[in-house]
Amino acid sequence: MTDSTPTDAADLAHAAADCSERLSADDLASRLDAQGLASALARQRDAAAALHHKPGTCASCDAKCLPLAVYCDDECRAEHERRQAILRRQGRA
Ligand SMILES: [Zn+2]
Repeated sequence: MTDSTPTDAADLAHAAADCSERLSADDLASRLDAQGLASALARQRDAAAALHHKPGTCASCDAKCLPLAVYCDDECRAEHERRQAILRRQGRA
């Protein structure tokens, strides 16, 4: 034990613990925010898709579906959202 004193080690450990506690709290908060934001965006996307699509047809493949349905099935919803995400990434939507 010549390279560090107990005080230095304790200070470092304390500083590291403080830092990681702050980071994990922020991290958790932003993760919760992101989840809330993601579901809010998902609802908004569904609402936007509902506005722009013809009732009774799938917003993704235009197949006939239930009168109030936006997509004919979960695969079409996933496919459509994937395409929208790509368009948004490319700045075209
Ligand atoms: Zn479809």
